[in-house]
Amino acid sequence: MMARKDWDTYFMDIAYMASTRSQCSRRHVGAVLVQGKKLLGTAYNGAPMGVPDCSEAGCMLVEEYELVASDGKEQVVKKQRCIRTIHAEQNLLLFTDREDREGSVVYVTDQPCWTCANMLANSGVSEIVFHRSYPKDNDKVRALMEQRGMTFRQLENYEPPAGTVSEVKN
Ligand SMILES: [Zn+2]
Ligand SMILES: [Zn+2]
Repeated sequence: MMARKDWDTYFMDIAYMASTRSQCSRRHVGAVLVQGKKLLGTAYNGAPMGVPDCSEAGCMLVEEYELVASDGKEQVVKKQRCIRTIHAEQNLLLFTDREDREGSVVYVTDQPCWTCANMLANSGVSEIVFHRSYPKDNDKVRALMEQRGMTFRQLENYEPPAGTVSEVKN
C-alpha cells in the first residue's frame, strides 16, 4: 500500500504541477493558496494573458550585478534575469480574493523574491512554505517575515513529483 502523503507534500506537489505550466525557459515556479487544507488557487510565473510568452517571444532579459559570497570572499557577479513574467506569487494574489487569503498558507516551489515576499506580507497570508532556496533575497525576506510575524519555512526531505522539475538558470 502506498503511504498516504502528508499535507505539506500534497500541496507542494500541486505547486510543482502548476509550475510545469510556465513557459519561461529560465525558471518554472508554481504557487498554491491553501485555507484550512482547502485548495483555493494555483498559479505559475507567466506573461499577462493575451501577450506572447517566453516560449513565443523569448525571455526579456535584464542584467544585474549581484554581490555573492563564496569561500568567505564577496564577489560582484553579473547575472541575467527574465522580467517578461509575472511571478507565480503575484499571479496568485491577482486571482484570489482578499477574504479567502486571511490566515491562509501559500505553498511555493521557490523561496519568494523580495518583491513577492513584500506583497505576500500585505496580502492576508499568514504562512509561506517553500522548497528551493533563493539566496539572493534570503536575509531581507527572513527579516521581513519575522517583523510581520509570519511563519516562513522550507520543506526539507521533500522530493518533487517525477517530471515536474526544470533546471533553473541563473
Ligand atoms: Zn522568461
Ligand atoms: Zn517573485
